[in-house]
Parts: sequence; structure tokens; C-alpha cells
Amino acid sequence: MQEQLRKSDTLNVVGELAAGIAHEIRNPMTALKGFIQLLEDGVEGDFSTYFHVITSEIKRIETIITEFLVLAKPQALKIVKQDVHTILRETLELLAAQALLENIQFDTFFDEVEFPVLCEANQLKQVFINIIKNALEVMPDGGAVRIDTSRCTGKYVCISITDQGMGISSEKLKKLGEPFYTTKDRGTGLGLMVSYKIIEEHKGYIDVESEVDKGTSFHIYLPLES
Ligand code: ADP
Ligand code: MG
Repeated sequence: MQEQLRKSDTLNVVGELAAGIAHEIRNPMTALKGFIQLLEDGVEGDFSTYFHVITSEIKRIETIITEFLVLAKPQALKIVKQDVHTILRETLELLAAQALLENIQFDTFFDEVEFPVLCEANQLKQVFINIIKNALEVMPDGGAVRIDTSRCTGKYVCISITDQGMGISSEKLKKLGEPFYTTKDRGTGLGLMVSYKIIEEHKGYIDVESEVDKGTSFHIYLPLES
């Protein structure tokens, strides 16, 4: 099944989101304060557990901030004309170590022509990272993530990221990109929302195609700059 996702309302949610994010960060902060209090009181017990929890809560705050960064921080945007393959290669380099550790191989099928797009390169990288990270997370036993590029309808480049994970049912497909929508124990539900917003700002769009128990493809369309 295929569903084109239009989330124009996500453009207006930043204000509402700020409250949500504050709440998301407050939870791990409360946990951290509690643990530090315990240590201060000289509590006995297995400190390694405390440190483990403390580290994991700090990591959680870090993830929330990283995934939200491009929205939360009004940056001086640097728009450049760049071959989409360059940005993809840099992204895959960033993720190479993690992929190796998790037994994931990247299969790239890049068109041999260049696909120049007008973009904020860091933001596009963030989109590719968020979507490829999701692919890694649905393949805990390893496997292959396939990345294709092709020209479509003349004016767009299509970047497809395909995993061999458990897939997404049609009713869940509709929820993708909603702020805080996650099916993971420790998910943030921010990665896709941020990605949709960035692609929208680049005048592109995202299609998701999925088959339960087979896998999922995210197709990212971006207008070509001649
Ligand atoms: P998070 O990864 O923190 O849960 P995301 O916004 O990145 O947040 O993703 C939201 C949800 O979309 C995920 O929790 C998952 O249910 C679903 N999802 C995203 N990518 C995939 C994928 N490749 N395969 C299956 N489900 C996915
Ligand atoms: Mg994610």
C-alpha cells in the first residue's frame, strides 16, 4: 500500500511542541534528580545500576534534543546547490560504525548522473540519518538497508531507503509524522515529524510503502535544480 503524507499542519506545531518537549525532558530530569539525591544521602547498594540508569536518562535527553534541534533552533540557513549523492555518502559514512556493530550492510544503487538539489545540507543529512536509523532499529538481527536514487517525473529526484524490518500496517502508516507518535519503548516520535517538516521546506514530499513482515521503503522526493 502506498500513502502520500501531507503534514502541512506540522509546520504550525512548533509552539505546541515546545511544551511537549519540555515535558519529555522533565521526566528523565526528575529521575536524575532522584538518583542524585539517593547518592547524596549515602544510600547503600549497587551503584553500577544507578550509574547505568543515570547514563541512560542523559542519553535520552540527548536524543530528544538532537532530533528536535533543527526545529528548535532557528539557524542561519545556508542553502547550497549540491549533488544528493554527496550528502548521502556523507550520511552513510557517519552511520558506518553503527551499521558495522549491528551487522547491517548498506547496499547503494545510485544513478550515475548527478542529482543537484537546492538544500540546507545539514538538514537533509538529518532526514537521511533519522530514516536510516529507524531502518537499523527494525532490524535487530542485522540485514541490509538499500538506498536507491533515480530521476522521476523529470523534475524530481527520488531517494528510496528500504529495510527488511517488520513493516507498518496501513492504520499505523497514517500516524507517521505525527509529533510524539512512537511504537518503541524508548522512542521519541520526533524523528519522522522533523524529517517531514524539512522535506516540506525543501518543496519535496515523502511517500511510504510498506508490507507487513517484509519491510518498508521511504521514498523522499526532492525537486531537481537544473
Ligand atoms: P521513534 O523512532 O523515536 O519511534 P520516529 O518519528 O523516528 O520516532 O518514528 C515513529 C514511528 O514510526 C516508529 O516508532 C515506528 O513505529 C514507525 N517507523 C518508522 N520507521 C519505520 C520502519 N522503517 N519500519 C517500521 N516502522 C517504522
Ligand atoms: Mg526514529
